[in-house]
Amino acid sequence: MSAESYSFDKRNRTPLSASNKEPARPKPGPDWKQELREAVRDLDELAGLLELPRDRLDAIASPDFPLLVPRSFVARMRKRDLQDPLLRQVLPSIAETRRYDGFSGDPLREHALARNGCLQKYAGRVLLVLTAACPVHCRYCFRREFPYAEQAATRAGFEPALATIRNTAGVTEVILSGGDPLSLTNEKLADLVGGIEDIPGVRTLRIHTRFPIVLPARIDPGLTRLLSGTRMQTVVVVHANHAAEIDDSVVSAARELKQATDLLLNQSVLLRGINDDAESLVSLSERLHLAGILPYYLHVLDRVAGAGHFEVGDADAARLVAAIRHRLPGYLVPRLVRELPGELSKTPVY
Ligand SMILES: *Cc1c(COP(=O)(O)O)cnc(C)c1O
Ligand code: SF4
Repeated sequence: MSAESYSFDKRNRTPLSASNKEPARPKPGPDWKQELREAVRDLDELAGLLELPRDRLDAIASPDFPLLVPRSFVARMRKRDLQDPLLRQVLPSIAETRRYDGFSGDPLREHALARNGCLQKYAGRVLLVLTAACPVHCRYCFRREFPYAEQAATRAGFEPALATIRNTAGVTEVILSGGDPLSLTNEKLADLVGGIEDIPGVRTLRIHTRFPIVLPARIDPGLTRLLSGTRMQTVVVVHANHAAEIDDSVVSAARELKQATDLLLNQSVLLRGINDDAESLVSLSERLHLAGILPYYLHVLDRVAGAGHFEVGDADAARLVAAIRHRLPGYLVPRLVRELPGELSKTPVY
């Protein structure tokens, strides 16, 4: 890794109060929409790019939740390695067809709870399920069976969702989620954020997104201006599970985000065979730190059908976090939690 990639100068940035025009950039980055259109969707192509042994590939075509991975993310995978931790997060595997006790299509019992795309489980916070679209398909995703067509907040424009927030007492924080909310264009997001800003009690806007990690070109000047221009406190929670996801392009995107948002956090999922060892978790925290991102949550797997082979038991999970606590400063140790239906917060796992 070159020293140059870490020489980002925090003061050397476009003034946020500047005009609404796109500032001229010395080197225009790749267009994220084009990168997304050109993402890999074909198993044979992925196998070819990574020179995977086709005969040992226990991959399957998965019509309901097809393969999707941007090329810049594929470029961070090791070639000829079926165990690569990034590959395993995206490769549809025959293991997904195995059934496990306690795993279902709606493990968090969210499907019936959402109204106009709004989910309220916790005091003061409303989560908006904005879209089904994501920049990547993560095989362990807990919302892989969410009924987006009926429930997404964008289905009938933003007004029904905004009305639901307005009519819910005591909302101080609105969380944009999905799918991935940054799948929406900056113009659409600006519309929505403007509507949220007009709701008096709302002080905080939070965005849960995997874009800065899997497709960092998404962090463009329009987006950072939107974040820095709102009256609300802003929190961006990204999602990385392994240090190898955070290459130099992610580090620079994260540093740009950091200029624009009040808090920049990460959540991870603990995944068997991907990051379920102390070494991986320590490296992940250190790499996040370098990118200016603080570890927030480490989730044990939500028990969604098709993801059973990724599960790590609670006792092993707790042991792992105890081990990394002995190796990292406290601010780099994520909180190990589980999401349980009906609870008033995420539940700590000990
Ligand atoms: C996880 C989650 C939140 C946010 O919880 P925090 O502990 O504040 O990060 C809010 N609403 C829903 C529905 C959630 O699943
Ligand atoms: S980016 Fe997030 S919502 Fe989308 S598939 Fe991955 S885990 Fe699920």
